[in-house]
Amino acid sequence: MPLYQATGDEPLCLTCTYHADNTCTFPKRPLAMDCTLYTDVRKQLLVARPGYTGSFRLQAWVKRKAGLLALIGLVLISLLLVLLR
Ligand code: SF4
Repeated sequence: MPLYQATGDEPLCLTCTYHADNTCTFPKRPLAMDCTLYTDVRKQLLVARPGYTGSFRLQAWVKRKAGLLALIGLVLISLLLVLLR
């Protein structure tokens, strides 16, 4: 697995695809000077991006909000159990 490193003072995140589409959850973001997941957004723009469909964005949103969705599910199950008694 390659480790990408910034060459100047500018963090990698400024040109990273995952920063651009707001899917990165690394704690180093947005000031990472080295990263193993870095993908240059400028290269991505030259290639068609078939993966960024509506369902992909929904999946990314669900992954980011998994904790909140689990909490809402627990509250709904609790309410259902109380109402059924
Ligand atoms: S994957 Fe790495 S370089 Fe890209 S935004 Fe996240 S921390 Fe920054």
